[in-house]
Amino acid sequence: MTELTQTRSAEGRLAGKIALITGAAGNLGGAIVRRYLAEGAVVVLSGRDPARTTAAMESALADTGMDASRASIVTMDGANIESVRAGIAEVVARHARIDVLVNNAGSAGPKQPLDNLPLSAADLAELGGVDSETVGDAARNIMVVAWNMVRAAAPAMGEGGSIINVSTIFSRTEYYARAAYTVPKAALNVVSREMARELGARGIRVNQLYPGPIASERIRTVFAAMDRLRGDEAGSTAGHFFDLMALERSVDGAPRAKTFPLPADIAGTCVFLGSDESAAFAGHDFEVTHGMAVAPESRSTYISRPTMRSIDGDGRAVLVAAGSQLDDALAFAKVLAGCGARVLLGFHAQAALDDAAGQLPAGAEAALFPRHDHVQMDAALDAFTAAHGPISGALVLPTRAAGYFSGALGAASDAMVERFVDDELEGSIAVARTLSRYWRGAALDADPRFVFVTNGDDGAGNSYANVLRAAIEELIRVWRDESGVSVAHARRARAEWGNQIIRYSNAETECLSFAAGQAARLLLK
Ligand code: NAP
Repeated sequence: MTELTQTRSAEGRLAGKIALITGAAGNLGGAIVRRYLAEGAVVVLSGRDPARTTAAMESALADTGMDASRASIVTMDGANIESVRAGIAEVVARHARIDVLVNNAGSAGPKQPLDNLPLSAADLAELGGVDSETVGDAARNIMVVAWNMVRAAAPAMGEGGSIINVSTIFSRTEYYARAAYTVPKAALNVVSREMARELGARGIRVNQLYPGPIASERIRTVFAAMDRLRGDEAGSTAGHFFDLMALERSVDGAPRAKTFPLPADIAGTCVFLGSDESAAFAGHDFEVTHGMAVAPESRSTYISRPTMRSIDGDGRAVLVAAGSQLDDALAFAKVLAGCGARVLLGFHAQAALDDAAGQLPAGAEAALFPRHDHVQMDAALDAFTAAHGPISGALVLPTRAAGYFSGALGAASDAMVERFVDDELEGSIAVARTLSRYWRGAALDADPRFVFVTNGDDGAGNSYANVLRAAIEELIRVWRDESGVSVAHARRARAEWGNQIIRYSNAETECLSFAAGQAARLLLK
């Protein structure tokens, strides 16, 4: 017998660990709880509904034959930081510390293509009850839930502590009609990595788990709905993801085949990551996907300096959607107008719009373009279109200027977390929805193009900018895929094409003008 199996049989791989598992009454949560109990952990099951969580606990204790003293419940809504702080205080009063935090909780978000995503209660009502979460609710129930838990629980954790954040492999793939789910998960991926660095200094490791499609009724229902929404044959979504898998496997005696990984595979990985066997891992990605070939996040850097000689924007109209960053917005407008394009500078903030007066380059005009008011955004686009013809390209800056959101993610104030989600995550999706709706009806003679451009270096590590960068990368992936599928099924005439330019990692003084040149090439060439 090896040393490892002796330890295992004597006391379990998690013996003596106090483990807090969120979403414990859910599908994967139930599997993780059972394995943690079986491996010797003292488990605190977290959920929003005490009756549901208690039932989950009793069933897990009965299935594993463990003593009732090994498990308890705590009631927390992860989207509400006050509720999380109160829950963590209860756990600390009970056990004095937390050794392992499994951030498994996460909702599914609304299942609608980008141009139909609900941003408000009124939008949800219009959808007739098929979805229960807005984009903002989903960002909170998917990304903030884990961020809040880490912020509140980390002070109760010490050296050797382990945090496991459950993301999804679909935060790095196209995933039709699920931007509201995959964009916050993509943001969570970077929150995890940033937190691994911040908490690593205290000996706490943070790792990231990417389940693939896990065998369950839920995934079959999700994929069946996706086939219908795409307009494709039944089974095509599952088939596409099977094609990405390397591994064939026989499950429950069935012949070897491409299959979905099992809840037990997730639970096993969580055991490894919660145990001291993974003491050397921090900030790592663990994919539980049967070897799906999915690219890591991609960040390109400038490899060439754009020349402006052959860019002709004559007769074209473009939008520069800015937040509060006046100088950057003017610089982009100047280059685009200099290429001959007619420019609409849309500011999220009234103050920036006021300050822009008198500074606009020839060929540009400005309007209010507030990201939380789609009626006003529509009105700005319609008025400009009536005067100058359809807009064929859009450059989108973050809602807030560099430095507004900055510093350690673990030290984020409650207000900053809320504002970041509202302004940047929801704000980006709101602009994308507005543009996608606009382009669905626009009379264009070429495919529309968009480019998201990050702020410049914030001088403080760019942690928030990096989270937003990953979220936008996924938003662009889903948007392009949805648009292409809609064109293939004749639901829209032109496919939208877009990309992202990252400025904060380039410290050269010419960074802004390089970015403006690249943006002009992407939008006008
Ligand atoms: P599930 O059965 O729907 O469970 C999700 C759990 O999340 C629920 O128990 C729910 O808790 C909890 N939750 C949602 N919003 C919350 C909030 N604001 N505060 C606290 N808890 C909240 O889903 P699952 O399939 O087990 O998924 C678990 C995790 O794996 C999720 O993060 C999901 O995104 C991820 N994942 C799953 C798959 C898959 O194929 N199943 C694939 C990729 C990733 P309540 O009990 O309080 O309602």
